[in-house]
Amino acid sequence: MNCPICGAEATNATPGNFDGLIVECKHCGEYEIPDDALNSLIRLDFDARKAALDKAKSQTRAGARASIVRAYL
Ligand SMILES: [Zn+2]
Repeated sequence: MNCPICGAEATNATPGNFDGLIVECKHCGEYEIPDDALNSLIRLDFDARKAALDKAKSQTRAGARASIVRAYL
């Protein structure tokens, strides 16, 4: 798959029971996008997607996976 943030080749690490997408990207790191935020996220331009990821990371404690929830979009 391609990373929904930067478009680079990335790994889809979503388990079957997760309602959304978990991505491992060598540029963006590992992050998750809940299903209800995904459609909004992919409509944003690159700078806005990157800003949402940065905001999610800044709100996530070290070692935890960043989650790009709707509030960050
Ligand atoms: Zn990426």
